[in-house]
Amino acid sequence: MAQLDTTNERAAAAAHSIILPDALLHGPIRTVEEERRWRKERVAGALRLLAKFGMNDGAAGHITARDPEDPDCFWVNSALENFATIRVSDLMLVDADGRVRKGDGILNQAAFAIHSRIHRARPEVIAATHAHSTYGKIWSTTGRLLDPLTQDACVFYGSHSTFADYTGVVLDVEEGDRIAESLGAGKAVILRNHGLLTVGTSVEEAAWLFFAMEQACHVQVMAEAIGTPLQIEPSMAALTESQIGSATASKAQFDMQWEALVADDGSFLS
Ligand SMILES: [Zn+2]
Repeated sequence: MAQLDTTNERAAAAAHSIILPDALLHGPIRTVEEERRWRKERVAGALRLLAKFGMNDGAAGHITARDPEDPDCFWVNSALENFATIRVSDLMLVDADGRVRKGDGILNQAAFAIHSRIHRARPEVIAATHAHSTYGKIWSTTGRLLDPLTQDACVFYGSHSTFADYTGVVLDVEEGDRIAESLGAGKAVILRNHGLLTVGTSVEEAAWLFFAMEQACHVQVMAEAIGTPLQIEPSMAALTESQIGSATASKAQFDMQWEALVADDGSFLS
């Protein structure tokens, strides 16, 4: 695993952070049932957005959300369910042993092996997003971290890692443990020769980070194709990460997409 050490830069940058209202992140207090519904709606909506943005690839990809009542369990999309037509009622509740507690879909074993171990290793993580998006896959073949080439890419500066141990489709929870170890305390991990995985303290954050990371991969692939791109200087990259890389900022960005999705086609809410 490779991880940049930007502790000092990030601490210095914190003094210049843009503070968004905390209510934007947490919203009104919800009952357990309301919170469960909230998370499931965002999972289904985020999957629809992945399809809308062309980031679905056959049966690959999954978004999980921890259950608010039973934190060892998580909600996940069924394998072989097209992201473009998925609904809240299609999600399954899976426990830490891979048993399906609710729902009657097919559990993707890779989803269980990876996500269950990430949820276990990171108790504050509510959601994780993984898909085989094109530019994420292309960039993953380099085995490199993303560079701070643009303001938007700085969201990941000093807060993502790489996982180099490709051994076929992830079906083993021990590999899930190794991926969780590579992720560390970060927002995202680039799985070499495979794709991207992002996490968040809300479904909204995990989903937005995935969209943003795919964009950052796209930009870096294109920029390196036409020359040698200039990088943002480290202290400025760290400052920018502190300004636009927070959980609140990611949620606000997701909400803009969510509102447009609901206005366009809210059928996923059923
Ligand atoms: Zn995968």
